[in-house]
Amino acid sequence: MKYAVITGAASGIGAEVRKRLEAQGYAVIGIDLRDSEVTADLSTKDGREIAKTKALEACGGKIDRLLLAAGLGGHLDDGALVARVNYFGALTLMDGFKDALASAGGQCVVIGSNSAQMRPVDEAPMVLSMLEEDEAKTMDIIGDMHAAMVYAASKHALTRAVRRRVADWGAAGIRLNVIAPGPTETPMLQGVKDHPTISKSLEMIPIPQNRFATVEEIAGTIEFMFSDVAAHMHGSVIYVDGGSDAQVRPDRF
Ligand code: NAD
Repeated sequence: MKYAVITGAASGIGAEVRKRLEAQGYAVIGIDLRDSEVTADLSTKDGREIAKTKALEACGGKIDRLLLAAGLGGHLDDGALVARVNYFGALTLMDGFKDALASAGGQCVVIGSNSAQMRPVDEAPMVLSMLEEDEAKTMDIIGDMHAAMVYAASKHALTRAVRRRVADWGAAGIRLNVIAPGPTETPMLQGVKDHPTISKSLEMIPIPQNRFATVEEIAGTIEFMFSDVAAHMHGSVIYVDGGSDAQVRPDRF
């Protein structure tokens, strides 16, 4: 049996990837707040431990595919919660499942965001404390910031955390990559669109293709990243954003 573990499997991109991997014959172990094989809250240390223990039990300690999709959007008031889920939840499970991935010669795709590079957050204190893996310090820095100030930083730090692991994970026989979508038609994006002020930020993102991504376009790219065709892809950050990143940063890649 081939096993796939998907966080955020109950909705949006995670749910679409679940369908595709099930069609390929994977036994999928979803981790989410609801409607999944493992119900766990990845914003808390206890929830992450429950997620890890129960998923490893369900797959017998071998994971062929891991998708870290659980996340919260920049439209929420609670910036600290967004950092807890988007960065610390994802990182804890990524590292927690490393041995199970190595046992299967498996692969991991992490969902970042094209927003991770749109603003200069490289040296932002919250990014540096995330990279130090210091959750308490990060929470102190974030305080009561709105998620609009935290979302891109959480994805920026997560992408760097992935890239810092490529030597070690490559040696362990695991492929580890990031997909960086632009705005994608999911319930999360609907939340942003419905927000009275944060919705305006969507209008400020230049998109050469002049439309948002469909969930199928992002899930299909993840399916490709998981496939043997992409066997040499490791440590890559794959932008799927209708050209936004290239338009905003034409001379950097
Ligand atoms: P979504 O809201 O449809 O799905 C996110 C899932 O994460 C939900 O099922 C939710 O229950 C789960 N989740 C949230 N908090 C959780 C917690 N504490 N514990 C466990 N599960 C939790 O959103 P989506 O758009 O499919 O998002 C998937 C990923 O894609 C996220 O990481 C998001 O940041 C990223 N992303 C989305 C967009 C977009 O525009 N939709 C763009 C770039 C990146």
